[in-house]
Amino acid sequence: MPPTYADTDLAHARALRERGLVDTAALRLLRELCTGIGARPAGSPADAQAQAWARTALGQLGLESVRAEDFALRIWQRGPAAARLLASDISRTLTIAALGNSVATAVGGIDAEVAWYPDLAALRAEPTEPGRSRAHGRIVFIDQRTERTRDGRGYGTAVGARINGPVEAARRGALALAIRSIGTSGAGGTSGTSGTSGTSGTSGTGSTSGASGTGDTAGALTTTAPVAHTGATRYDLSVPRIPAFAVSVPDADFIAAEQAAGRPLRLQLSLDARSGVDARSANVIAEWRGTDLAHEVVLIGAHLDSWDVGQGAQDNGAGVAIVSAAAGVIAAAGRRARRTIRVVLFGNEENGFDGALDYGNRHKDEPHQLVAESDFGAGRLYAFASRVAPAALPLTAQIAEVLAPLGIAQAEGSGRNAGSPGPDAALLMRRHRWPALALAQDGSRYFDVHHTADDTLDRLDPHALPQNVAAWAAMAWLTAQAPLSFGPPAL
Ligand SMILES: [Zn+2]
Repeated sequence: MPPTYADTDLAHARALRERGLVDTAALRLLRELCTGIGARPAGSPADAQAQAWARTALGQLGLESVRAEDFALRIWQRGPAAARLLASDISRTLTIAALGNSVATAVGGIDAEVAWYPDLAALRAEPTEPGRSRAHGRIVFIDQRTERTRDGRGYGTAVGARINGPVEAARRGALALAIRSIGTSGAGGTSGTSGTSGTSGTSGTGSTSGASGTGDTAGALTTTAPVAHTGATRYDLSVPRIPAFAVSVPDADFIAAEQAAGRPLRLQLSLDARSGVDARSANVIAEWRGTDLAHEVVLIGAHLDSWDVGQGAQDNGAGVAIVSAAAGVIAAAGRRARRTIRVVLFGNEENGFDGALDYGNRHKDEPHQLVAESDFGAGRLYAFASRVAPAALPLTAQIAEVLAPLGIAQAEGSGRNAGSPGPDAALLMRRHRWPALALAQDGSRYFDVHHTADDTLDRLDPHALPQNVAAWAAMAWLTAQAPLSFGPPAL
């Protein structure tokens, strides 16, 4: 007979769940972080302030061994940036955001024709020999659209344009790279979970058909000014580093319409930024000590850093608030589990994963029963999935039963192994073969604000925070109390 949880353990988890549902700490923490500190890019003074705030907050929640584990890193710093589109008789100032790690333009900026591509695959389809691509001597514009989805698939499919665009453009002689923002702000539409059965990168599907506007921009939540979505990009030592930036979705729609009308386009760009600046950041850690297996760790995490725009409310203040409040609920209830529950608020998830890497290096010899992270905004949880040893699946099925009254279903394929446990947790899971659990949030609206100046507290719907706290508290405690190891996962 497979091992199962004792009835008293399940009852305690249900009690934690009910306490979580009336939690008010998460919203309080989120408010303090967003309005008291705001944007907190790793290595900045605001990042240090956020670490100090988190240590105080975690201590006040009754957690133990509160500390910061600091590390050195190199950071990128944004400077002013401006772009203007010139098309026959039009001159239009664009709303743009430099991509993280972008190099600056040379003095005087760049003034060049635009080479438009519907997506990254279309650019990749052109030869790299000098002068054989339309990109050569031009500013490449990749018009990759982000589909609105509940589970983030639309982002996953589109984000390659942001990450790999500069290298692919530079390989073909481009002077700079522009992309349609990888996000859905200003894009309208509320399409649900339907999808174009997403295999990315297969060119020739012409997925976005006639480029110009789809006419459904009304009705979206967005009533604010257009925003551009930032986010990390990367370079390759073998090709020149060219400036890279995103334009707002309405501006991208305008460019697409001009392109479709056959009008030649020029862009004037000036962009300032600094790379490789020496700095320090830290992971902030707090624990609720275990009993007979206290040396084993149940890690529930989020990332404390944010991009330098907005307030980092959904990315990832919400996650910080949820996992901290969940640990607070566990501590307030008083009963210890067998293993130690450890809250880890990672540093620099956004631009290098330095925090996750540092954590893995320091703690690689400690047995981990779980790595899991809340990093998908503030939406309702709807699914639960596991990356655990097959022998542990009967236990995760029991956890799923405790979560079910919250409207959380076992993800399709559970019983097998599925789901993403969050970016830092996924890195640790892969590197260290630590087991993981994933709680999936509704992200239908997440990419309206993700990595933009609109990621602020006033744009966040706080109603689902208690449901998240309830699930994280019950899930973490049961994982810590389990009668057997969850690892190593079947990856
Ligand atoms: Zn995040």
